[in-house]
Formats: sequence, structure tokens, C-alpha cells
Amino acid sequence: MSRGRSLVALCLSLGLLTTLLAADPREYQSGKVWPEPKLVTPGEGTAPPSDAIVLFDGTNMDAWKGGEKWKVADGIATVNGGGVETKQKFGDMQLHIEWSSPELSTYKDPKKLPSGQGRGNSGVYIMGKYEIQILDSFENKTYFDGQAGAVYKQHPPLVNVSRKPGEWQAYDIIFHAPKFADDGKVTKPATVTVLHNGVLVQDHFELEGGTSYIEAPKYSKHPDKLPIQLQNHGNPVRFRNIWVRELEEPAKPTQGEPKK
Ligand code: MG
Repeated sequence: MSRGRSLVALCLSLGLLTTLLAADPREYQSGKVWPEPKLVTPGEGTAPPSDAIVLFDGTNMDAWKGGEKWKVADGIATVNGGGVETKQKFGDMQLHIEWSSPELSTYKDPKKLPSGQGRGNSGVYIMGKYEIQILDSFENKTYFDGQAGAVYKQHPPLVNVSRKPGEWQAYDIIFHAPKFADDGKVTKPATVTVLHNGVLVQDHFELEGGTSYIEAPKYSKHPDKLPIQLQNHGNPVRFRNIWVRELEEPAKPTQGEPKK
């Protein structure tokens, strides 16, 4: 058989196979007709995917109120002179953020290191209210619901996967905002999933309310979207590669007849 003919034969048999598969009487079909998922081009490694909003790409802190105070050099932003918050507001989100605790050699007297909450403290305040703790938790004990990867004073991380101070660490956070009734009652609590250095540390945790140092968690009604804040806790924690994707549920499918 010529090469051309064998190609035709192959196409015909593939076509026949597809038809046979489509007509497989054993196949369950839900009857739901879904809209096609949007195309997104993934980033290389931890680079932002095509639909991400870049909050810090190493050049400037223009996306942040208060960002002008932070030191930006060599692609890194360092906490300085106050906290920052995004100019844009976000609700349901996927957030990627890389951070690094100050190296021990940078402390005034490396033999008398600050400990507990005093070492490498910052935090990602989602909606300005719900803190995922940033802390140097490498060989530095503190209360467990206050260590790196904790939902502050609500839930410790499932494991401590901290890298050494000075090394880069990453959080990938999936957050769903709480929902409120008109009278202010919570109809759906906020939930958060956190991967710390690629390892699951918060698994769809249901928040009990805002995270606070001085009071028990409680909810107060707030808008669907609010700025993300990064905490200044007096430690020169460094940040790089920050991006966020706003999450939306896909449109509902139309329901046809299920087939079996
Ligand atoms: Mg903190």
C-alpha cells in the first residue's frame, strides 16, 4: 500500500473508531451542556498565568497604597515604614505570593535573636481582615495558631513546611469571601485553602470571622470585595512575584436529557 493510501486508511479507521466510541451504548451522558472553559496560558513555573492580575513583578509597588515607602531593589520589595494594601479590591481569589524571612546574620546581635512572634513577622490580610500568618517558623516556636501558614489565632497549619530564613517561600492561597444576609448575619462563612511551599497547610478551612490579636474572631458585614493588605510588624520581610486571579463560577449549564 502506498504511503498516501495507508494514511487515508488510518484516518478512516480513526473516524470509524470515533463514531463507534460516540455511539457507545454504555456511556453515561449527564445531558448538561456546559459553556467551554476560557483559555488561559499557564506561566512558566510560578510566573503568572495569562489571566492573572500582577501585584508585584519586581519593578515597582504601584499596585499598592503605601508601596512608595517600601524598598524595591533587585526585583524584591521589603517591608518598610508601614503596611501596604492593594489599590484594587478583591473577593474570591487565587493568590500567589513569595516571601523570605530576614537572614539571621542581619539581626543586630545574631546570638540574641528575637523569638516567637518577633522573628520575621508579616502577614497576608485577605480583604484586610483575614490574616494568613507570615513568620520565620524555622526552628522558632510560637503558639501554633500563630506560626507561618496559620489562620491567625484560628487554625494552625497542618504541617510546618518552613524554609530557612533568607530562603524564598511561597503561599498559594484560594479564598472564598463570606456571604452576608441583609441583616448582617453570615449566610456562608469565608473559606481558605493554603499551600505553603507547594504543601497543603490549610484545607478549605472555614473562618470563624476576622483574625485579631486582641479579640475573639467575629464577622461584621462587609462588601464582596476589599483590598489585600501586607502587614508591617517591624521586620524587614521581603516579597517578590505576587499575583492574583479573581475566581468566578462558570455559567450554569443548560440541562438536557441524561442518557444511559
Ligand atoms: Mg503577622
